Amino acid sequence: SRATADQIELAEEYGASNYHPLPVVLATGEGAWVTDVDGHRYLDALAGYSALNFGHGNPELLEAARTQLERITLTSRAFYNDQLGPFCEALAQLTGKDKVLPMNTGAEAVETALKVARRWGYQVKGVPENRATILVMDGNFHGRTTTIVSFSTDEDARSGFGPYTPGFQVVPYGDLAACRDAIDALGTVVAVLVEPIQGEGGVVVPPADFLPGLRALCDERQVLLMADEIQSGLGRTGRTFACDLVGVVPDVYILGKALGGGIVPVSAIAADRDVMDVITPGSHGSTFGGNPLAAAVGHQVVRMLSTGVWQERAARLGAVLDAELATLVGHGVLAYRCRGLWAGVDVDPALMSGRELCERLVPLGVLMKDTHGSTVRIAPPLTVTEDDVRWLVAQLRTAITG
Ligand code: PLP
Repeated sequence: SRATADQIELAEEYGASNYHPLPVVLATGEGAWVTDVDGHRYLDALAGYSALNFGHGNPELLEAARTQLERITLTSRAFYNDQLGPFCEALAQLTGKDKVLPMNTGAEAVETALKVARRWGYQVKGVPENRATILVMDGNFHGRTTTIVSFSTDEDARSGFGPYTPGFQVVPYGDLAACRDAIDALGTVVAVLVEPIQGEGGVVVPPADFLPGLRALCDERQVLLMADEIQSGLGRTGRTFACDLVGVVPDVYILGKALGGGIVPVSAIAADRDVMDVITPGSHGSTFGGNPLAAAVGHQVVRMLSTGVWQERAARLGAVLDAELATLVGHGVLAYRCRGLWAGVDVDPALMSGRELCERLVPLGVLMKDTHGSTVRIAPPLTVTEDDVRWLVAQLRTAITG
C-alpha cells in the first residue's frame, strides 16, 4: 500500500542501511500478534530476537512500567534509587548468584563480563598484566561493539572495523578437546565465553557433554565459565536458562533482551562475590544502567519467571513445535533443532534461501527471520497458543512446498 511504501521510503532515505528488513511496517502489537499500517495481522515468530518472550504489551509488564513512569525514571548511579536494590536481589535469587551488575544492551553486558574476567584474571588468578586471553567459539554472536566484533567469525560483522582488540582465541563450538588444548597451550586463559545454544548461528545445540565438560575443565584449570544467555535465557528453552537443560551452572550469567520485557533495554551480569568484587567504584558504569524504570520492569520480569509458569509453558508448547517440525523433515526441510519455543530450521538450499522463505511467509501472515544461508529461526513470544504453533508450522509447510 501507499502507507507502507511511504514509511519504507522514509526509513531508507533518512536511516542508515544497517538492516535489510522485510517489507512490513508494524504499527501495533498484542501478545504474539502484530498489525501493520494497512491492518494486516501477523504472528510474530521472531519476538524481537527473544526480547519479547512475554509478548507485546504484556499487561503485568506495562503496569510495572506505567507505575514507575509516574514516579521517577532516571536518577543516575550517583544516587541510590528505590527500585535497584530489590531488582538486584530478585535477579541474584533467580540466578543463584551473590551479585548483579546492571547495564542496558546485551553487548554492554558482554563487555562487562569481558572486563570482569580480565580483572579477575590479573587480581585473582595472577595472570601477568595485559596477557589475559578469553576463549570464544567459532560461529559466536555476542553483539556489535568494536571489541566484540574483533572476535566474531562472521566477516559481515567484522570486516572493515579493525584494528581488532587482542586477547581472544577462537575454538570450534562444541569441541571440548580444542578448549582444553587452547587453555593448556596458552597458559593465560582467564575465561571461556560461550552461548549455551548459538542463537544467531542458527539455534545450534552443542553435543550434550560439551557444557558439562567445559564446566569441569574450567574448574580444573581455574578459568571462568561465562554463559551468554542473552538470547537463550529467561524461559525461551523451557528452562530459566539454557544451561539448566544440561545441569550446568556458569560462573557468570550474561543476560539481556527479555530482561527488559520488550519495553526498555535492560541487561545484566550475575556472578558470585569473589568474581564481581573485582569491580570497584569508578572502574565501570553506565548513565542508564540500573535506572529505576529499567529496574522496575526487570524486577517484574524476574517475578514472572520465579513462578516457573513461563518456563513450563515454553516446554509444553515447545514439544508441540518440535513434533510439528518433525513432519517437515524430508519435505523441503533437511534438519531442525528445537529447544522449548526456539527452533532453527534448515531448509533445503536447492529450494530457497532463508531470506526467500521469510519473504514467502509475509503474505501468509508469519514474520520470521533467517539466520545464515537457508536456516530460519522460530522464536515466537511464549504467549502463543497451541493453535498458533500448529498454524505457524502449517504456514511454514505451505511456504516451503508451495
Ligand atoms: N549475545 C547474544 C547471544 C545475542 O543474541 C545478542 C543479540 O542478538 C547479543 C549478545 C547482543 O545484544 P544487543 O543487541 O542487545 O547488544
